[in-house]
Amino acid sequence: MIDEHFDAIVIGAGMGGNAAALTMAERGLKVLQIERGEYPGSKNVQGAILYSEMLEKIIPNFREDAPLERHLVEQRFWMMDDRSHTGLHYRSEDFNEEKPNRYTIIRAQFDKWFSSKVREAGAVVLCETTVTELVKDTFGRVIGVRVDRAGGFVRADVVVIAEGVSGLLGTRANLRDIPKAANVALAVKEMHFMPRETIESRFNIKGDEGVVIEAAGTITKGMTGMGFIYSNKECVSIGIGCLVSDFQKAGETPYGLLERFKRHPSVAPLIEGSEVKEYAAHLIPEGGYKAIPQLYGDGWVVVGDAAQLNNAIHREGSNLAMTSGRLAGEAIARIKTRRDPMTADNLAVYKELIDKSFIMKDLKKYKDMPSLLHTQSQNFFLTYPQLVNKAMENFVRVDGTPKREKEKLTMRAFVAARTWWGLIWDAFSLARAWR
Ligand SMILES: Cc1cc2nc3c(=O)[nH]c(=O)nc-3n(C[C@H](O)[C@H](O)[C@H](O)COP(=O)(O)OP(=O)(O)OC[C@H]3O[C@@H](n4cnc5c(N)ncnc54)[C@H](O)[C@@H]3O)c2cc1C
Repeated sequence: MIDEHFDAIVIGAGMGGNAAALTMAERGLKVLQIERGEYPGSKNVQGAILYSEMLEKIIPNFREDAPLERHLVEQRFWMMDDRSHTGLHYRSEDFNEEKPNRYTIIRAQFDKWFSSKVREAGAVVLCETTVTELVKDTFGRVIGVRVDRAGGFVRADVVVIAEGVSGLLGTRANLRDIPKAANVALAVKEMHFMPRETIESRFNIKGDEGVVIEAAGTITKGMTGMGFIYSNKECVSIGIGCLVSDFQKAGETPYGLLERFKRHPSVAPLIEGSEVKEYAAHLIPEGGYKAIPQLYGDGWVVVGDAAQLNNAIHREGSNLAMTSGRLAGEAIARIKTRRDPMTADNLAVYKELIDKSFIMKDLKKYKDMPSLLHTQSQNFFLTYPQLVNKAMENFVRVDGTPKREKEKLTMRAFVAARTWWGLIWDAFSLARAWR
């Protein structure tokens, strides 16, 4: 047994774990953070877009030394068929602001930096150590963790479970169910390296400006999923992901889809001549509001992906993880200040904070969404994209067909696909801004 008692143990040094550990260490708690990877970030995968607002609440001056890639000035959404895409692009000079709102990042570098802040705040960070079990007392209260090191039982008043999407520890300890295949996506991603100037000319950007492309349509062969292309300083991240249950049904492979996506005529020129240096695969929780498990109990709280706190419709995860980690840290620090025990009754304040935050409000708003997309995936990801692209071709091709006939055909296709566009519209949050 590691002969020390901690106020809190944090399992995992990803976005949620780092936020929780830093928040508690800064408030004077004695914190042990345990990460199985060689270093924080070595196991972590993200597109990756960082949302400044949520990090600012934890590290207000993060722009001074965080490893940021590009700030985003343009968002493109592509609805694809096999040879074309119809796009919705938004670009604004307003995003060239003093404190940009979104950045691309590379998680291996970013998590290392985030973890350095955790250490500076006084937490003990133990890497290359896997938590094998949550240890409970005879009353079922979590009293510490067992790790894969000699003598590995460590005690703490409370354990923050920030182990990410697979959530094996929580499942083994009967704190949550195994995530269903219809509630998790499997995404694969490659990093394509090329000179900075090539990226800037291909994406029409300068300096540290960046572009995000999100793509849906026949690229996922009728399965619920999306592709993405993010510009970093000297590389482009390209990936695709679909629900695990869809992969099981369709018998498709993730790398097969990625190869196909890369060969698409709209995509291939963006990565031509690049050198692939990294390949990664990871799960994403996509069950939404209905898949959220119990968030706290006697001696434990769960944050981030392990709690299924992920907004698949808006492709946000790291910000929910950081915010839930911060709120868990704040709740625990409050209880500690009052010298109260870490009972479920006292830790319920964490859930109250989550309920009041954007996390639960957003997830509640889309509570039927993942299943809607799933049950109509052939329409959303095969039929409508083909219809819309055909309609666009019909509209722009000059071939002697009277314009009235062309307009009728085009309108018919867009009306059929209106739900799709409604979703995209919403996803871009324009509707929210106009309400
Ligand atoms: C391809 C892809 C693209 C994405 N793109 C975006 C995006 O652009 N923007 C966005 O906001 N989100 C994105 N996400 C989601 C985002 O990555 C997650 O929501 C976020 O990483 C969740 O943070 P977390 O701390 O909960 O989990 P993680 O970041 O997964 O961290 C969990 C940590 O726990 C450690 N761990 C696990 N088990 C143990 C154990 N037993 N013992 C010790 N350590 C353990 C792991 O090694 C890991 O470091 C993307 C995800 C994927 C897969």
